[in-house]
Amino acid sequence: MPNSTSKKPQKKQNASNSARLVSFVFVVILICLAFVALLTPQTHLDEVPLSDVISRANDENGDIKKITVSGSEIKITLKDKDQPTQVSRKDGSGTLYEQGLVNKCEGKSGEELSSCQEKYPVIEYKEPTNIWSNIWDIAIIALPILAMIIFFSYLMRQAQSMNNQSMGFGKAKAKLYGPDKKKVKFEDVAGNEAAKQDLSEVVDFLKSPKKYEKLGAKIPRGVLLAGDPGTGKTLMARAVAGEANVPFFSISGSEFAEMFVGVGASRVRDLFSKAKKNAPSIIFIDEIDAVAHKRDARGGAGREDEQTLNQILVEMDGFDNDSGVIVIAATNRVDMLDKALLRPGRFDRHVNVTLPERKDRLEILKVHFKNKPTEKNVKLDELAAKTAGSSGADLANIANEAAITAAREGHKEITNNDITEAFERVAIGPERKSKVMNDYERKLTAYHEAGHAVVGHVLPDSDPVHKITIIPRGRTGGVTWFLPPEDRSYKNIYELKDILARAMGGRIAEKIVFGDDDVTTGASSDLKNVAELSKEMIVEEGMGTSTRNQVFPENSDVSYYTISTGKPYSEKTAELIDSEIKKLSDEAAKRAEAVLKANTKVLDRVAKALLENETIEEEDIAPLMEGAVLPAAAKLH
Ligand code: ADP
Ligand code: ZN
Repeated sequence: MPNSTSKKPQKKQNASNSARLVSFVFVVILICLAFVALLTPQTHLDEVPLSDVISRANDENGDIKKITVSGSEIKITLKDKDQPTQVSRKDGSGTLYEQGLVNKCEGKSGEELSSCQEKYPVIEYKEPTNIWSNIWDIAIIALPILAMIIFFSYLMRQAQSMNNQSMGFGKAKAKLYGPDKKKVKFEDVAGNEAAKQDLSEVVDFLKSPKKYEKLGAKIPRGVLLAGDPGTGKTLMARAVAGEANVPFFSISGSEFAEMFVGVGASRVRDLFSKAKKNAPSIIFIDEIDAVAHKRDARGGAGREDEQTLNQILVEMDGFDNDSGVIVIAATNRVDMLDKALLRPGRFDRHVNVTLPERKDRLEILKVHFKNKPTEKNVKLDELAAKTAGSSGADLANIANEAAITAAREGHKEITNNDITEAFERVAIGPERKSKVMNDYERKLTAYHEAGHAVVGHVLPDSDPVHKITIIPRGRTGGVTWFLPPEDRSYKNIYELKDILARAMGGRIAEKIVFGDDDVTTGASSDLKNVAELSKEMIVEEGMGTSTRNQVFPENSDVSYYTISTGKPYSEKTAELIDSEIKKLSDEAAKRAEAVLKANTKVLDRVAKALLENETIEEEDIAPLMEGAVLPAAAKLH
């Protein structure tokens, strides 16, 4: 039976597809017509005096080919033209004939006529065409307006018809992944065992609701998947549908944001009614935070968002216990969601989808390399090790880039090098070997990167240096890469301070080697990172010296905001926060400088090696750093 439920909407979709096509073509034709009407050259006719026309018409060397008289209007076509270009008007005194406009060729025929017509104009009398030319004038104005009216009423009808499928022009629609589309199963979602465990319960509800009803259990209506972008929330929701073998309707919250007023709500209504018709089924709302953000003290959600959100809530509240529709929503900002959404009977089940750990990353990589030929010695495990912090989508992207790289290089199988190249491409952007650096820039970049590397190498709580390169990649001049030996969820204050110091290392090295005046723009992204991280440490992590264990959330639930700062703290506190942030970056700069001044020889050695080889790999770093020391001024503990 599952197939019969899926065929129905399929057919309907086709019907409304062709309706959409017809009306679309109709509108396009109208618009074209309007344009043609607007663009048709309304040839401008030059006014000439009648006496002038008459004398030229009677001159055997005159320039007039044809004269068309209609009513009082006289149109003149010149001998070298096909269309009239001049116009004249009859005045009151007598007929044209009386005034001297006579047809010189009248009564002639054959050879005589044609040789006469070469010299003198043909004179034609026409019934005045006022009515028709007026209609044409009106049409020219009316057509575009008509087209516009039709176009807009078409849009309005679309908005009101609540028909998801026929909103044309690339607008959002709920996509139906019926049971006949390639199913996603839990096995296609690598890792995230805990989330799968939670969701298998939902699958069971969908498969055998009776079992739960008999025991008086309330079937859940909404499940909220929370997790970073690309962690596989959509994939997970589709897997639930795939496992339960039910149709899957999806729409994204951000698509609502682009809609006309009122469309969002009607779209929601339509989506739910469609899902109910196809029950049991799943509705998936991606990026629900786009419509369901908090209505906070500072204004908050716009009216359109609110209408859309309210409609979602109304629909969910209206579910019967046996409606068989389960709504799965995804967000990466649970803290931003409107509380109304999280109440019992709505999205009261939360499933966290986390960034994959090392062994999960390996599993995800295996999934995405499954159908790609790889050399035997390819070590996915190594790739998994160095991709800490990457999401499933990032890993899928690396796998795809690796295949592309291999194809471009003409390899039959994907090699380790292809994978490394793909990883670096995805992490920082493609190599830009073509960017020419002059000798000075190269030297500056080499010292800059060597500065990062030496500071990072020397400081005790920094991750080890993985790779240094002065080949430009993406938007950076060069890269120094630090990789943690293993995944860690928490970083302590010493580790964070070492990150700040090594980020400063680039600019400080430039300063030591090239002097204070030669401040370049090469360090701007380093400085931005320092600013962001030190702010986070003070505001979110409670790591200031005089504000230890105090945090200053900006998006909290508190409904009180100081007017002067627009934040939930006073001006004085804001100043304190600023000074704490400055303390952190000043300290970082001092430590970096202490390290580099104590290790000038090492700095030179690393920079020279970079100038020579452009890239230094992890295994070659230790020998270059030999003799590096940690000066007391850079010690924290
Ligand atoms: P989200 O909805 O969380 O932003 P998606 O589900 O759209 O993420 O994931 C994007 C892509 O990343 C998926 O289509 C899939 O190819 C890949 N991906 C993400 N997580 C996983 C996973 N756990 N296992 C396999 N592939 C994954
Ligand atoms: Zn730098």
